[in-house]
Amino acid sequence: MPSEPVLSPAAVFQDGLAHGELRYQRCRWCATRSAQLSLLCGTCGGTDFSWERSSGQGRIHHFTATAAAGQVERTAVVELDEGFRMSAQLAAVPAHRLWPGATVRLEVADQDGALRPLFRPVAA
Ligand SMILES: [Zn+2]
Repeated sequence: MPSEPVLSPAAVFQDGLAHGELRYQRCRWCATRSAQLSLLCGTCGGTDFSWERSSGQGRIHHFTATAAAGQVERTAVVELDEGFRMSAQLAAVPAHRLWPGATVRLEVADQDGALRPLFRPVAA
């Protein structure tokens, strides 16, 4: 079997963000999709994943707001159009634009040199 270059899941994910892409893993055994970067499938324990690219479009499943250092930080669980969920920060937008089911789109935030996924509500 030809071997692929060995990159850690976190490195592949970061490389995706550097290209403005949200990459996720799909288990080759049971086809479970996940944005959890792991070496074992949470559903079947499989160890063989393929990488796929998400459209970056999804909906807020639920979100929480926490106040830290005088700022409100909102974290959402987003259900991506591909059918998996991931937790990520929400863009700083007025609260009335956020509700469960609101459509959001991926943005890449650069926080002190580290790239992180961020979701911004799409204007209805
Ligand atoms: Zn699996």
